[in-house]
Amino acid sequence: MSSRTSLTKTVVAALHEALTFWMPIACAGCGLLDVGLCSGCRAALVAAPHRRRTEAGLAVTSAMEFSGVPARVLRALKEEGRTSLARALAPALGSVLAEVTEGGAVVTTVPSSRAAYRRRGYRPVDLLARRSGWTPVPLLRSVRTPRDQRGLDRAARRVNVGGVFLSRPVRGRDVVLVDDVVTTGATLDDAARALRAAGAGRVIAVTLAHTPRRRGRGAGSYER
Ligand SMILES: [Zn+2]
Repeated sequence: MSSRTSLTKTVVAALHEALTFWMPIACAGCGLLDVGLCSGCRAALVAAPHRRRTEAGLAVTSAMEFSGVPARVLRALKEEGRTSLARALAPALGSVLAEVTEGGAVVTTVPSSRAAYRRRGYRPVDLLARRSGWTPVPLLRSVRTPRDQRGLDRAARRVNVGGVFLSRPVRGRDVVLVDDVVTTGATLDDAARALRAAGAGRVIAVTLAHTPRRRGRGAGSYER
């Protein structure tokens, strides 16, 4: 990191701290003042496991629906730097992970794009996995940046996110692939393809949330 980038980060951090001091805290789920997450919204973050298969047949188990309180809390974690919210979201993800992860399986995450990591300074999916009590093994990396998904139909999205990931050797082990939100499943399918190409045994996916299909359109603006 250059000293200039480092200086910028220091300035941004100082500004953020100043703003946090002067701006009132509000519940990430409902906007109630003076609390980071109110008890009502916390109660809305319980796991309600939902299972589906992607177009390529990958089994995906999601802890909650990406709407209402869970969607707002996850957005605040991802887009407003409110990393402490990971702790409130983690139990739901953790319960699903515990349910599907068999002994010997490797837990890994779908990586953030490089641009997103530069902007945020943290990896939300890794943070969620760690707060859930799992230590993800970094197997995947992006070898290509897909273009913005907004405005692309289902087929075009699939092409857009194909061939993005490359995996380190897995040598026959089963893999549990973790991501924050599943929309079409195309990203998970591409990550699973890369894992299998690297020698993975069975690959299954777990996500914190799933976008209800009828409302899947709006989730394209969701940066990973
Ligand atoms: Zn609330």
